[in-house]
Parts: sequence; C-alpha cells; structure tokens
Amino acid sequence: MPVTPGLAIGVDLGATKIAAALISPDGQLLDSSQALTEASQGAEAVLDRITDQVSALLRRAAGPITGVGIGSPGQVNSQLGIVRKAVNLGWEEIYLSTEIQARLGYHLPVYIQKDTNLSALGEYYFGASRDCPDFVYLGIGSGLGGGIMSGGRLVTGADWNAAELGHLSLDPEGLSCACGSRGCAETIVSGPGLVNLARRFLDDHRFASSLISNQYLSTTQILDAARLGDELARQALAQVGRHLGLVMASCIAVLNPGRFIIGGGLGLAAFDELVQAAWDELRQRTLSTSYQNLEIVPSQVESSAIGAACLVWYFQDEFIPKEVIT
Ligand SMILES: [Zn+2]
Repeated sequence: MPVTPGLAIGVDLGATKIAAALISPDGQLLDSSQALTEASQGAEAVLDRITDQVSALLRRAAGPITGVGIGSPGQVNSQLGIVRKAVNLGWEEIYLSTEIQARLGYHLPVYIQKDTNLSALGEYYFGASRDCPDFVYLGIGSGLGGGIMSGGRLVTGADWNAAELGHLSLDPEGLSCACGSRGCAETIVSGPGLVNLARRFLDDHRFASSLISNQYLSTTQILDAARLGDELARQALAQVGRHLGLVMASCIAVLNPGRFIIGGGLGLAAFDELVQAAWDELRQRTLSTSYQNLEIVPSQVESSAIGAACLVWYFQDEFIPKEVIT
C-alpha cells in the first residue's frame, strides 16, 4: 500500500538570502519565509537563522511535516550531511544536517544537497522535466551551475562534485577562472562572462555598437541593445550561446540527455538568443543520433526552495513512488 507523503519544508541557502518554503506533495507553495544570510556574522548565526525560518514554517503548518530539505553552495556530502568549501559563505566544513536537527530540538529528518542539484530535482518533480528522467539543468546567472539527473537519479559523483559544468574547461588557453583553472565555461557562459566579452569587443572596436565600455555596462543593457539590433551585443550573446552549445555537446557525449533545462537570471532573460546559437554549435559537435529527440526548454520552477523540499520526497521515494506525488 503506498504511503501518503506529508508536507515538506525546503530551504535554499544562498550567499545573500535564505529562502524557506512549505510545499504540499502536489507542488503547492503553502507558506514561505525569508531572511538575509549575513554570512559575515559567522556560521553559528547563519545556522540559527536557517532554524528560525524552518521553525516559523513548522509552527504555522496545518499538517504533518515529513522532513526538511536544504540546498547549499559548496561541496555537499548528502550522506554525512556535511558542507565543505562553501566559499561564498566562508564555510570550510559544517555538519549542516546535525546542526539544524540539534537546533530544532526534536526529531525531523534534515536532508542536504548541492543547490543546483535541487534546481534539477524541482524541475523533475514539478517543472519542465516531469516526463523526462534523463536531463541536465543549466543555471546561467552570476556563474554557470549544473544539475544532472540520469534514469531519475541525481548524479552526485564520488566526491559530491559531479555536474560542476561551470568549470568544464573549454579552452586551455582561455581566460583565468576564480577556481584557478583557465578557460572554464563560466568565464564566458555567465552574466559576468557576457559583460566581459562585450567589453573586449568594444575595446577592440570589433563590431558597430551604441554601447559604451565602462563600469556600468550590464547584462540588461547588452540584452536591450541586442533586441534593438545592436551588432556587437548580438555577437556577444551569440558567442555566449555557442559556448553554451559546447557545454551541451560535452553533456550529450557523456550522458545522452533527453532535455536541457535552462534557468538562472541570464538564462531565462536571453533564452531565445542563447539557445539558437547553442543549437547551431551542438549540431556540429555531436552525433546526429544523439540530438534527434533532444529538447532545450526554459525552467518552470520559480522558487528555489521548492526543489529543496523535493529532496525530502526524493530520499524517501523507495517508499513513495514518484507517481504518487506528482
Ligand atoms: Zn573554473
């Protein structure tokens, strides 16, 4: 007899804010809570703030809560509940699951996972990949984040570092990346990557443009200019799109996904422009039999905390088949 899943709480722990949400098994956002992360105040203060958000939702919930799912940046060991090297939070090693459980004061399962993996999970349960268990989520914003599902399971890797697609090296002689390597995908496929590229095109006078190379140059300006026909802005976007296509081609060779889900601020704002160029590139870089049924679609799940809540059901889905909760 199938178990009826209860409500789940999802927490998206970001560098600037902590977003928490109470989600029903059919994906309804029932309640939400938000606080600034203020990581500079130290890990203890951040852990207290996460607990406060969860406690507030627990107090107001109208039904039984199955558990809490937390998405975190860094290297996230789901099995041991440990977050390591979360650079944006200044965390070297935090036993996140245990710390939150202890603060809540009573037994409630707390599961953790890398934030972009949970974006993928949210799309699988309630978003753009409900009918496709083999897909890659690509979040294009301040960086390039990835989440991979293969056969309906998250691909996490031997050291919890799978799907680090932003650091896929596309060019050994390319730009320096914050990770210490060169030519990583996110040096171009990201908001800062687009701005940097446009600036270089402007400095080289490579294309006609109404844009000005200064500190105020932004992704929004570049997008607006491209839509008004600005040649340089269009070329910069196309180049970012072609590099996105290279990332996709690598994913196709390794995973043969049925779908790419594009999320993130820039990914959604420039979806059409980026995807058109990505298609042109990936068709030249992959076996035609690998992309005949491929789809590239925008993400549908708006709240990052929804994917985090799905982690609760995901960890219990040997007891609760996915069909029951979708
Ligand atoms: Zn890198």
